[in-house]
Amino acid sequence: MSEANGGIRIGVYTCHCGTNIAAAVDVESLAAYAATLPDVVVSREYKYLCCDPGQDLIRQDIADKRLNRIVVAACSPHLHEHTFRGALVAGGLNPFYLQLVNIREHVAWVHEDRKEATRKAEDLLRAAVRRVARHEPLEPGRTPIHPDVLVVGGGIAGIHAALTLANAGKRIYLVEREPTIGGHMAKFDRTFPTLDCAACILTPKMSAVKAHPNITLWTYSEVTKVDGHVGNYTVKVKRWPRYVREDLCAGCMECLEACVYEEARVPDDFNLGLTKRKPIYIAFPEAVPQVPVIDPDTCIQFKSGKCKKTCIDACGERHAISFQLQEKTEEIEVGSIIVATGFQVFDARRASYYGYGVYPNVYTALEVERLVNASGPTGGEVVLRDGRAPKTVGIVHCVGSRDENTNRWCSRVCCMYSLKLAHLIKERTGAEVFNFYIDIRTPGKGFEEFYQKLLNERVHFIRGRVAEVTDWALDPTEEGKLVLRVEDTLASLVRRIPVDMVVLAVGLEPHPDAPETGRIFNISCSEEGFFLERHPKLAPVNTFTDGVFLAGCCQGPKDIPDTVAQAGAAAAEALALIDAGSVETEPNTAYVIAEVCSGCKTCIPLCPYHAVTFLDNEKKVRIDQAMCRGCGTCVAACPSGSIRQHLFEDEQIFEEIEGILAYA
Ligand SMILES: Cc1cc2nc3c(=O)[nH]c(=O)nc-3n(C[C@H](O)[C@H](O)[C@H](O)COP(=O)(O)OP(=O)(O)OC[C@H]3O[C@@H](n4cnc5c(N)ncnc54)[C@H](O)[C@@H]3O)c2cc1C
Repeated sequence: MSEANGGIRIGVYTCHCGTNIAAAVDVESLAAYAATLPDVVVSREYKYLCCDPGQDLIRQDIADKRLNRIVVAACSPHLHEHTFRGALVAGGLNPFYLQLVNIREHVAWVHEDRKEATRKAEDLLRAAVRRVARHEPLEPGRTPIHPDVLVVGGGIAGIHAALTLANAGKRIYLVEREPTIGGHMAKFDRTFPTLDCAACILTPKMSAVKAHPNITLWTYSEVTKVDGHVGNYTVKVKRWPRYVREDLCAGCMECLEACVYEEARVPDDFNLGLTKRKPIYIAFPEAVPQVPVIDPDTCIQFKSGKCKKTCIDACGERHAISFQLQEKTEEIEVGSIIVATGFQVFDARRASYYGYGVYPNVYTALEVERLVNASGPTGGEVVLRDGRAPKTVGIVHCVGSRDENTNRWCSRVCCMYSLKLAHLIKERTGAEVFNFYIDIRTPGKGFEEFYQKLLNERVHFIRGRVAEVTDWALDPTEEGKLVLRVEDTLASLVRRIPVDMVVLAVGLEPHPDAPETGRIFNISCSEEGFFLERHPKLAPVNTFTDGVFLAGCCQGPKDIPDTVAQAGAAAAEALALIDAGSVETEPNTAYVIAEVCSGCKTCIPLCPYHAVTFLDNEKKVRIDQAMCRGCGTCVAACPSGSIRQHLFEDEQIFEEIEGILAYA
């Protein structure tokens, strides 16, 4: 009996979470069981403990029954630990006198046998009751927020987030790994469902980024390392040399004209290989920044040193071109980070039965976006590789989407962009256009109306997954054509449709280097490989790393309106953090018992946050409380047991283990 003479007085609260927990766990019997445990003064169950009346129960009992420890058996601490800590504070208790038991994700959602699930919940509850009795009061720390923000990725998501924050007076670093910002949207001519001109919406925003006094734009650059924590991140950015100095180049493009080495031309990435480019190039006429890049892999000067260097002559007195420029690394301090690294399209070669890369007239949708583009390789004319206009076109939906053999998810935008391309192809060529679809998905503002418009334009829709595309003619009508073989599931027959051009509506995928990017920013990937949000409904732009937010298709496929909305939300989250000035930090930090520390330094290289330093005078280590993130690595590694951790004290953990094992 200590604790102000009343001894330990524990209240246990078990949540039904509607039927989320109650369907799998016998909540009433669990609460009755908890009432029998030592030091438990009151045990209650309630439908939704997280709501106000639920929290009131806890507040009231703290006062009425003089509780000094609380155990809540409910959902993941990620969701409601903060909520219940708040209830303790409202009741006048230190918030760290709480122990939360996750009987939803760890019990109800993973067990089918109700009896066994209830027994497991009892074990966890018993352990929590033993543990919480050993809890000590703790004070959360506060860390100041650096007001600058890093935005990674210069597609429409990164651009919108950067401009929103910059317009609010914040300093932004926008890092894009390509030589220009713009992302995928820069490749489009029109956008669904309004068919408005993509360049007219995007390029003014791109120019605004470049011109904004609050934005530092680093293209052709990549983040290589992030250290620190919410409010104080130190970021290293690698900047590849363009061999054209951004500070001296006037954007006249005379160097491009002057480059005479035609044989060095290579497929142009921006036009997806539909055209070729010179070794010195600019991605597209409206690229930002308006500064060319020299590709050292194809430039004669880099390869043989025997170039006449006509580009340097053309640049003249500006001296912007320098073959000596080197890669460099910048280091910046920021308080928050918005990751907006976007997506890649499915590689159509993986669906080999559609003949992409085998038949020249099988195109991906992204290639057709370039063909229909007024500033694309054909000036907006839809023509085949031999220059003919197609008279019949087949658009195959869901290539690399909704398919067990490739990607299982729906890419969300392909139905709509297929309708857009069908309209544009018909408008430009008058061709008969066939859409081969599994389901038409048009759940957006104005989307269904757009579909109706296409039906009125007499675009054909055939329901069924195309089995293969070949050039095997079975009769004269199929000679010289590509033939799509498909089971028409509405007419219940297998059809062969000969066409001049096939367009593959390729799905959206995470970048292949997403796991590596995730490691840099300490964020995880979902099962599909897109970055994982903290909570799909309550924290859709947050990640599990405080101060790191997500925007756009790096989190999952979405269209431009949703991308822009999410980018705005990410910017608002960063803004809220900055304007708060400081952020509360968990007090679960590691600390050293100096008398026991032998000064062996084992812990120093192990600390991922560089929080441990050696005090030369005292021959002992010290842990910087502001830098420690409570990962526990040093605690586990310390050979003398001199490093301990708040909220994970040995006594607390041993009590918890004994509680689990104490099944009677
Ligand atoms: C064929 C096709 C047609 C479409 N048509 C439409 C349409 O008409 N209307 C519509 O609403 N939506 C359309 N969409 C969807 C649209 O493309 C996306 O909603 C939008 O591009 C998402 O923008 P984002 O910024 O998230 O990603 P992205 O456009 O992919 O931009 C991401 C940027 O991040 C950069 N990046 C990647 N990794 C890194 C890194 N590690 N470091 C730094 N930078 C990095 C990339 O280079 C890129 O510039 C279409 C999609 C496709 C495939």
